[in-house]
Amino acid sequence: MSVPSSLVRDLQNRLGNASPDQILSTALKTVFPARIAVVSSFGAESAVLLHMIARIDAATPILFVDTGRHFVETLEYRDHLTAHLGLKDVRSVGPSLEEVARLDADLSRAVWDPDGCCAFRKVAPLERALAAFEAWVTGRKRFQASTRADLSAFEVDGNHVKVNPLASWTADDIAAYSFAHELPTHPLVAEGYTSIGCAPCTSIVQPGEDPRAGRWRGFEKTECGIHRSPAFQREK
Ligand code: SF4
Repeated sequence: MSVPSSLVRDLQNRLGNASPDQILSTALKTVFPARIAVVSSFGAESAVLLHMIARIDAATPILFVDTGRHFVETLEYRDHLTAHLGLKDVRSVGPSLEEVARLDADLSRAVWDPDGCCAFRKVAPLERALAAFEAWVTGRKRFQASTRADLSAFEVDGNHVKVNPLASWTADDIAAYSFAHELPTHPLVAEGYTSIGCAPCTSIVQPGEDPRAGRWRGFEKTECGIHRSPAFQREK
């Protein structure tokens, strides 16, 4: 069953310019109670959204796509942040062993077919996990990349509503919130990683570059496929 676009329009009209806390509280408690999950990469800026979620309802399901190609620092940070924030329902989802053996046995697919690699390691596992929910929350922000400049707080995403409570926040907003709440930082941020995905597809970002410029460097690819562009959403 597809999501009525009128619902998303109404949410955007009522809450599109509201604070992240208002957007999250309304989505979690009023509009989609028990039918919404958060998707987190436990990356460079994930602590802010997860801290907000923990204060509203620490039992909210948090989906982490464990592709099998993450930095070990990310897996350790996931476990540390989960304990620090008291998150009660963090679920790791990912490809099966059979899929890995059949589709990327030598672990080289990220080099010669990153779209195919993301498709079976990220997109398909997340789609399976999201089948139990009507809506999901992301931590995306407009400032992260030119491709996210039009990001709105609420979007239609196939059969789901996608909620982006931090869409309007700047890098300074994120830094100020992290500082005020003394949130643990991903250990690779100090090494120059401003956006952190799988190890084979993440590199250090230079001053002046988009925060996501280190992702899939050398490829035209800018998204893993779990986030389709706003233009795609409008065309649907
Ligand atoms: Fe594969 Fe890279 Fe996509 Fe991770 S980000 S699933 S390693 S192509």
